Amino acid sequence: MKIPNTECVKKIGEEVLLAGWVHIRRDHGKIIFIDLRDRSGLIQLVFNPQNSPNGKNDYYKLADTLRAEYVIEVSGTVKKRPAGMENPKIETGEIEIEIEKLELLAKAKTPPFDLTKDTKDVDEELRMKYRYLDLRTSRVSKIIEMRHNVVKFIRDYLSNLDFWEIETPILSKSTPEGARDFIVPSRQQPGKFYALPQSPQQYKQMLMLAGIEKYFQIAHCLRDEDPRGDRQAEHTQLDIEMSFITQEDILKLIEDLYSNLIKKLFPEKKITTYPFPRMTYQQTLEKYKSDKPDLRKNKNDSNELAFAFIVDFPMFEWLKGDKKWGAMHHPFTKPQSESIEEMKNHPEKIKAFQYDFVLNGFEIGGGSIRTTNLKILEAVFEVLGHSSDEIKKQFGHYFEAFSYGVPPHGGIAPGIDRLIMLLANEPNIREVIAFPKTGDGRDLMMNAPSDVSNEQLKELKIKILKND
Ligand code: ASP
Repeated sequence: MKIPNTECVKKIGEEVLLAGWVHIRRDHGKIIFIDLRDRSGLIQLVFNPQNSPNGKNDYYKLADTLRAEYVIEVSGTVKKRPAGMENPKIETGEIEIEIEKLELLAKAKTPPFDLTKDTKDVDEELRMKYRYLDLRTSRVSKIIEMRHNVVKFIRDYLSNLDFWEIETPILSKSTPEGARDFIVPSRQQPGKFYALPQSPQQYKQMLMLAGIEKYFQIAHCLRDEDPRGDRQAEHTQLDIEMSFITQEDILKLIEDLYSNLIKKLFPEKKITTYPFPRMTYQQTLEKYKSDKPDLRKNKNDSNELAFAFIVDFPMFEWLKGDKKWGAMHHPFTKPQSESIEEMKNHPEKIKAFQYDFVLNGFEIGGGSIRTTNLKILEAVFEVLGHSSDEIKKQFGHYFEAFSYGVPPHGGIAPGIDRLIMLLANEPNIREVIAFPKTGDGRDLMMNAPSDVSNEQLKELKIKILKND
């Protein structure tokens, strides 16, 4: 099997088998140089006509036909480059491979943009359409590798603390996270619909009822958002829930996890304040006029990370457009007051055990301690304008589950995309998602969403109203 290009630095004098894409070809007199690219990086291949047999196996002749992005396999000997010919810009810059064999595995069309350069300035829609090409470029590939390392660190860290990673369903029922649901028609129950999860919120709470105690998941969350800045129809979050804990236990877990992650994977970065400051919502608004303040000391320093927790959010917010109360986080959050009367008469006064996790002026996560007292939960739903009938219909399963012995519990869900965006110093989350969508929810590579056949619609008993 082929070895990664960058491993050749340890193999001077040895014969190696390599494969990858033609990055750049240069001809110097009779000698052909090719920079071969694989996931690990670049390496220089040297094709010397003197070493090439004539006739059928004339790889030099074949090398002469190679163009950018052709896929090749080669074998040859690792040599130190002649003095003065080193290239300090690449990891393998001290060596080159003297080729003894070449096989062409696939030809390639000329890519729609130059893959040897940073594609930042290339039209974004073009990059999205050819995302598999964009992903070949060094900057984007490094981000994807970094993302893997971050997620792996999180998985190992939490597993070591006895958390269990548990998958929860994608075909589900609406759960109120404040956005619009994506819905999926059911063929087997025509006229009925699943909702795609805005988050695994209810499932993770059910897992606490199931006695799991410590749960996490790298979860896909699907929200049918209106095109707005940096939102994506789907994003990934580190979803966590724990039983028998306090708010401070959760904040401490996150503080330890993130500070260790930075120390291990990003030693060049500096955390502005540790322990992470904990500030109340009220104080933060008064002092910074924002609930996600940027607490960096030097905002020009790309390696500074100012984490903070904002606590004591109001339970409710007045939705001016709808002229009704909404939940600032979600209805399952535990209010700090146990007084139902106060909640009903003065919703604006009620604070919640709710916290946000903030980094460099971005909200990178939020969570809460959950209500386990059903009377209070019912009152919360009433303030939010739900009738008892509606509550039963929509959340009957939840109320029932809570009547079988519910442990005190709470959780948090830091976003993965925003974190990676900030760690990679990228301007938006589309750059750090392997296959991002446009702001209005289109996947330009797959051409989704797309039409479905009349047969499919018939099976689902769905008729499309034509917009004319
Ligand atoms: N479900 C919440 C969210 O997705 C997080 C939480 O309360 O744990 O924002």
